[in-house]
Amino acid sequence: MTQYDYDLFVIGAGSAGVRAARMASTHGVRVAIAEERYLGGTCVNVGCVPKKLLVYASQFQDQFDAAAGFGWTMGKSTFNWTRLIANKNREIERLHSVYSNLLQKAGVGIMTGRAQVLDAHTVAVDSTQYNAERILIATGGWPSVPDIPGKQHIVTSNDMFFLEQLPKRIVIVGGGYIAVEFASILHGLGVHTTLCHRGHKLLRGFDEDIRDFLAHEMTKKGIKLLFNTDIDAIESAGDSFATRLIDGSKVSTDLVMFATGRTPNSTGFGLEKLGVELDNELAIKVNSDYQTNVPSIYALGDVTNRVNLTPVAIAEGMALVNKLYVNQRIPVDYENIPTAVFSQPAIATVGLTEAQASEKYPDIDIYKTSFTPMKNTLSGIDEKTLMKMIVIRSTDRVVGIHMAGPDAPEIIQGMAVAIRAGATKAVFDSTIGIHPTAAEEFVTLHEAAKCKQWGGSKCPY
Ligand code: NDP
Repeated sequence: MTQYDYDLFVIGAGSAGVRAARMASTHGVRVAIAEERYLGGTCVNVGCVPKKLLVYASQFQDQFDAAAGFGWTMGKSTFNWTRLIANKNREIERLHSVYSNLLQKAGVGIMTGRAQVLDAHTVAVDSTQYNAERILIATGGWPSVPDIPGKQHIVTSNDMFFLEQLPKRIVIVGGGYIAVEFASILHGLGVHTTLCHRGHKLLRGFDEDIRDFLAHEMTKKGIKLLFNTDIDAIESAGDSFATRLIDGSKVSTDLVMFATGRTPNSTGFGLEKLGVELDNELAIKVNSDYQTNVPSIYALGDVTNRVNLTPVAIAEGMALVNKLYVNQRIPVDYENIPTAVFSQPAIATVGLTEAQASEKYPDIDIYKTSFTPMKNTLSGIDEKTLMKMIVIRSTDRVVGIHMAGPDAPEIIQGMAVAIRAGATKAVFDSTIGIHPTAAEEFVTLHEAAKCKQWGGSKCPY
């Protein structure tokens, strides 16, 4: 007879926690999961899923405008934010029941309430205590906003999904995934959008060509991008706000959204008292088996602040269960993780950027192409596509693929398989294209690019 109520007690029912709990349970492990807010965590409730629904919503006006070139005559289109949010909420509710059913069917005990870790083997949910052989922390992260005067007026991505009405004007602060995606969504829905970023380019860490290209396309669409600046204060001005920039200038707006990063949810529920080690950014420190310095306590997903992407959190959950309960050590490979930003145009990428590749290898060739997507020949939409491939000359290995344009995330998912399989440029070249598509450009990139950077004086090519 075991001395514990559960073998595994999971705190946090987001992507990582749910996957770990379900999979462990299917291996006969006695599992409980505690969640204080919503099943599915950030991704299902205030992240990937509702974001993608808003992305779809924001693309229709362009489609309506494009239809004329294809012979259609459109009536006057109107947009109803309240209806979109209600429909989105209904879909999220449906996903809550899907998650709940999956967990119940797997035999996981679901506890609703805030969990406190009392000691290395004890968790309390509200006033009931449970003990467990192992505790898994999968509590994710939360938007972080700098302390500035007027902070109380700021909304974050969490609030955006529940706004009662769409503002006419918005200022978005930040230059990362969330800022860029929301700038595109809101602009697409007709909101006058200003993005204000402290850096000199969007999306630090992405390939420079892609960063330049995206900023150029977003500006062409009418999104105002302000670089090398920051917000000093937000002042209330009746129904609207004046955002004061560090140079003293002011931007009037109806809403100010900050997308300035996320902080791991690692404090306030007992880990400090237990001495679980955190890093400077409050991420829980774990070893390569997701184990903290307290041996019975594990952590994975965004609370460990490594690669904060849902599929990575899910993969970590699987790896942990395999290690603990199947006796199989199949570590997550953090190399060549594909990722996408659902901006307009969307961008997606896998492997090394040109800068990373040139640092690592002495001999790289760059292949790139920029073109007007076929649909835009008749649509009148003034948006181009950029594709880029990075190849090591001596081995012919493709080590990076980057794209900005329609369907980039769908296309790059397949490219990621090729890169992981170690495909050479010769393999790409000998692959027959699917015609006519944008994706076929990746198998017909015959000449190494002559110009170094998109946006340079001699480019576009
Ligand atoms: P990011 O870390 O991507 O970006 C934060 C941005 O805010 C950066 O541009 C950063 O600038 C800026 N910033 C940070 N602190 C301040 C500050 N004090 N004042 C002004 N600007 C500041 O965070 P996000 O919040 O956009 O997204 C969080 C994470 O969620 C992402 O990194 C990603 O892992 C995940 N995510 C993934 C998505 C996807 O897969 N499509 C979509 C949305 C989120 P600087 O670059 O100078 O540091």
